[in-house]
Amino acid sequence: TNAKNHNVVVSYFEAETDEKIQRELDILNQLRYGLKNEEFTVYLQPKINLATSELEGFEALARWNSPVLGQVSPVEFIRIAEQNGKINEVDNIILKKVLQFQNERLQKGQKIVPIAVNISPVHFYSDTFVNDFISLVNKYNISPDLIQVEVTESVELFDYKKAKEILLELKKLGYESAIDDFGVGFSSLSYLQQLPFSEIKIDRSFINDINDADMHAVVKTIVQLASNLRMHVVAEGIETSEQYAILQKMGCSTGQGFYFHKPMPLEEAEKLLY
Ligand code: C2E
Ligand code: MG
Ligand code: MG
Ligand code: MG
Repeated sequence: TNAKNHNVVVSYFEAETDEKIQRELDILNQLRYGLKNEEFTVYLQPKINLATSELEGFEALARWNSPVLGQVSPVEFIRIAEQNGKINEVDNIILKKVLQFQNERLQKGQKIVPIAVNISPVHFYSDTFVNDFISLVNKYNISPDLIQVEVTESVELFDYKKAKEILLELKKLGYESAIDDFGVGFSSLSYLQQLPFSEIKIDRSFINDINDADMHAVVKTIVQLASNLRMHVVAEGIETSEQYAILQKMGCSTGQGFYFHKPMPLEEAEKLLY
């Protein structure tokens, strides 16, 4: 009976793994259709000046509503897109929609704030990134100060020389770049100092635990580091007024989070621009 129980346990785990693999296959298959059939939309989350509570800009976040799978989180589909050669396409669909949005507001003479797009490290390091990016922005007649790049640092992909080259090229053209999810996964602080990022985004997990004395010290150190390196610093995932107050007191310039706004559809974001 022992052996029998053991078999039950084994097949239970096997079934779970099969399910996971099937889910990934379903996502990959639907992704191919979804990219062609306009199933992706952009949500915008406001970036708030913590001193004045004014809107400084937005971050663009991909949303995918599949007729087959329903709403799929980017946490799930971005990784699958990265592993299957689809991520450049995902990033560029979102980038195009953001450029179109900016272009329409420009045409109508409406207020415009910078919008940051997320670029996967897989895409960022691919040979076509800078040229594709620049030609898309130019195609929509958007000036570089109205579009920003966020790159999540990845230890596996980290290539200091190449990162510096790409960031310098963007900087020379007038684009600002942010290092996203800072604190989780960055290998060396000495690299940060030499990479021409204009902004550090402190990972949400740090803000979540900011009441903890050690974490408080860590966040304070990052804010000071950013200031010393003359980089802009953004706290991600602010959910409470206490977190807001602590970060404001530390001198953190900008914040994002559900406390201010959740990511929202373009039409809703437009209501914040007047
Ligand atoms: P991220 O770039 O760090 O974006 C912030 C994530 O935190 C978003 O999740 C946002 O909805 C969420 N968030 C914002 N404020 C709060 C808060 O106060 N509390 C909590 N619990 N969460 C908050 P989302 O939209 O699910 O995106 C997850 C990740 O997927 C993003 O993390 C980004 O790495 C990636 N992603 C999203 N869109 C794109 C895209 O177009 N291209 C690429 N390459 N990655 C994308
Ligand atoms: Mg981001
Ligand atoms: Mg990220
Ligand atoms: Mg982030």
